[in-house]
Amino acid sequence: MKVLSGYEPATVLSFFEDICNIPHISYHEQELSDYCVKFAKERGLYCEQDELGNVIIVKEATPGYERVEPIIIQGHLDMVGDKVPECDIDMTKESVRVLVDGDYITADGTTLGGDNGIAVAYGLALLDADDISHPRLEVVLTVSEEVGLEGATAIDLSCCQAKRLINIDSEEEGVFTVGCAGGLRVDCRIPLEMTQKTGTVCEIRTTGFLGGHSGIEIDRGRANGNIMLGRFFLFLKQKMNFEILKMEGGVKDNVIPKNAKALFLVEDVSAINSIVEAFNQVLNIEYGASDPDARLELAVGDVDTREVLSATSKEKVLAVLNGMPNGVQTMSQDLKGLVETSLNMGVMSVDEEAITTVFSLRSSHESAKMHLAETLKQIAEVLGGEASYHGLYPGWPYARDSKLRELCIKNYKEQYGKEPVVEVIHAGLECGILSSKIEGLDCISMGPNMYDVHTPDERISISSIARMWEYLKAVLAEK
Ligand SMILES: [Zn+2]
Repeated sequence: MKVLSGYEPATVLSFFEDICNIPHISYHEQELSDYCVKFAKERGLYCEQDELGNVIIVKEATPGYERVEPIIIQGHLDMVGDKVPECDIDMTKESVRVLVDGDYITADGTTLGGDNGIAVAYGLALLDADDISHPRLEVVLTVSEEVGLEGATAIDLSCCQAKRLINIDSEEEGVFTVGCAGGLRVDCRIPLEMTQKTGTVCEIRTTGFLGGHSGIEIDRGRANGNIMLGRFFLFLKQKMNFEILKMEGGVKDNVIPKNAKALFLVEDVSAINSIVEAFNQVLNIEYGASDPDARLELAVGDVDTREVLSATSKEKVLAVLNGMPNGVQTMSQDLKGLVETSLNMGVMSVDEEAITTVFSLRSSHESAKMHLAETLKQIAEVLGGEASYHGLYPGWPYARDSKLRELCIKNYKEQYGKEPVVEVIHAGLECGILSSKIEGLDCISMGPNMYDVHTPDERISISSIARMWEYLKAVLAEK
């Protein structure tokens, strides 16, 4: 007996539970991909599966819909695997344990994979039904979305005839996403030289910084741990001599760094505590609203002779951390409140060889994103280093005219009796990449209510799944 049996919509939830019962975190989607292929074969549907595991399943138009424009229903096969520390599930091999809690489906101790198993479930339920009217339906299911949109980047869409695409990877019912930023990772590396110096060894580290997602939360104005250490050293430079031994901070290019630390030497230890305190006051004045608990903590060690950065190398490090751009660069003039271009110095390290910084760049405009990349490269080169570009993905520009958007808004008003929210986001979605593969592709992204995705608290609303199911059917039934 399935956990979700007895709940509606029955077919969608039945497929959803099947999907939950197959392990499918990123890079481990093969079994789920094969399950979709088997599903298609059993129903005699045209199906393509590539080496990565991306799947496309096609169902011809139902009678009377042969002349209606084909449509793609799209989602991703992989999920983020996160769990509470005490959970014993090996998410690469074992399935999650599905639970129902009131109106919510959740998983015991792990992420659920509603992001994006629900899109796969809707797709399969549409393909499975013989009582739903629709034009030619092309269900596109990608792998490795959560680790950098890899499946979408590699997929061949030449078997698709549709020039309309509904992506079901959004998380709030009644909010349609109609554009997103493109991205690029830029790695900068500037070689450094060392020399020997004697002094008191000190360590400074960040504490209480909130960090966050470099796309969605870049406009919160939160302090970047890497940059704040750089600023601390420039502050210190005005007051006393010091030498830098090494530094490190951040975990990922697209995460605003919370934790950063540095080892340094000072000649005169007597004033250092009060200087750190003065800096913390500055931090509190400027970031008290966005990061109320952010501060730097100092630990003072013993006098020692150590390898430290040469005078020129130290100046270069201060120039990188204080001079390279970071955070929101421009706001959109078209759409109020939308960040247009931003970057985040997500990872930084200073060792005996080099200072390395890894940035995540985002922009609604390809040209602005590339200009920012070239700016970083220019600064790195002037300082004797270099920059390299990785993981470039295109944005999804807001289309001033979109028939699909109008159709979706009309149907939404009919079913819900109110206007939907239509927005452009400053994070990446597969729609950007997919629309670069089909000339003139008209896209929209939507999804049922989900909460705390990518965490063990992830949950999805059953009643919202049911309303979206009715809504999707109504959109497909349009001629
Ligand atoms: Zn997703």
